[in-house]
Amino acid sequence: MNIGYKMYEALGISREVYEYGETVAGNLAERFAGIDATAEYNQLKVLRGMQDHQVSEACLLGTTGYGYNDLGRDTLEQVYASVFHTEDALVRPQITCGTHALALALMSNLRPGDEILSPVGKPYDTLEEVIGIRPSRGSLAEYGVTYAQVDLLPDGGFDYENIRRAINGRTRLVTIQRSKGYQTRPTLSVARIGELIAFVKEIRPDVICMVDNCYGEFVEIQEPSDVGADMVVGSLIKNPGGGLAPIGGYIAGRRECVENAAYRLTSPGLGKEVGASLGALKDFYQGFFLAPTVTAGALKGAIFAANIYEGLGYDVVPDGRESRHDIIQAVTFGTPEGVVAFCQGIQAAAPVDSHVNPEPWDMPGYDAQVIMAAGAFVSGSSIELSADGPIKPPYAVYFQGGLTWEHAKFGILRSLQSLVDKGLLGAEDVVRASEKSKKSLS
Ligand SMILES: *Cc1c(COP(=O)(O)O)cnc(C)c1O
Repeated sequence: MNIGYKMYEALGISREVYEYGETVAGNLAERFAGIDATAEYNQLKVLRGMQDHQVSEACLLGTTGYGYNDLGRDTLEQVYASVFHTEDALVRPQITCGTHALALALMSNLRPGDEILSPVGKPYDTLEEVIGIRPSRGSLAEYGVTYAQVDLLPDGGFDYENIRRAINGRTRLVTIQRSKGYQTRPTLSVARIGELIAFVKEIRPDVICMVDNCYGEFVEIQEPSDVGADMVVGSLIKNPGGGLAPIGGYIAGRRECVENAAYRLTSPGLGKEVGASLGALKDFYQGFFLAPTVTAGALKGAIFAANIYEGLGYDVVPDGRESRHDIIQAVTFGTPEGVVAFCQGIQAAAPVDSHVNPEPWDMPGYDAQVIMAAGAFVSGSSIELSADGPIKPPYAVYFQGGLTWEHAKFGILRSLQSLVDKGLLGAEDVVRASEKSKKSLS
């Protein structure tokens, strides 16, 4: 069934844009059924983790002060460990964001003289300062930890020969970023991450393989920890927080790795024993429970966006048909105006702050101006409908999130409307794309 144009019209969508959206969405029914099946599997996986660890009403309450014997915190960490199939997990509101979780995992498991290897090219922008690729106060480089990098091959494959050459006696940790981040390379599937880890472990079984799992959680039925990762790390204001977690990060992995992280987060000697959960636990649990279906909605939005913009002739990564391994969609507009119009459209679709018009600004941790659209219930949450675009070539935007598919769909149509309203696209271009899309259906 189709709800008709009326509500879309009331929200400022033109008939051409609406009809194009209906055609594109109609073509995606089969893909969406596959996403629903993944969500169903992951829903049961999370439910089972909660039941096996006997999550009780008392777990939802939380502690203050030192936070000794925080039943809810300790149980939640067991639930994460069972969902990720790891020995242990650290899931805390004291981990302020994804970058902090990654920095913590690195700094706690590396010692002076060790080397980090990234065999998948440059890591996420904010990690450049953590590692010291861009000199920064307090970086790992200042503590005598060195960094080596092997880029992906031009076709996106692993450069096994140079990875083998880069692994030396000092290599202590291999960092693998699952998602593309602010790059236009393909995202890595869990299966491919597994192949890379197997290759590394064959050369040096004792090397720690860490996966930056941001935006990847629950997109597949397996996680990198199911294919040999020693640590998976991510942010709770992305997928696993389900839109409800107001802050936080997680590290799930081998007991020793997680303990090292806990001793660094709090203090040597204290480790996981302290760290009050304050009032965050109910949202952590409920968000984790909702995360599989929230991620599915965001994934549908990303695929819809790919097909909408691909049909209009823009470069999109991943393309409209590719299999998905994270919730990020890149669309290349080629001009700063396109990036700005897209992000302003996403903002205009928000439930919060839809009347605010975002502008590019100098965001800490990034080397170019960035425009961000985020009218979110949780500030900066990118499992909620959001987009960001660094104002530098190739002038691509990175779109992600949407707590529901319905909202993600509207957001994409609103972004397209913004491009039309600003004269960057003609209504006739939309009609033409619509005709083409109808043909591909029949
Ligand atoms: C978001 C993200 C990070 C950093 O997380 P923040 O919460 O923004 O600090 C790191 N790596 C990847 C791939 C990300 O997507």
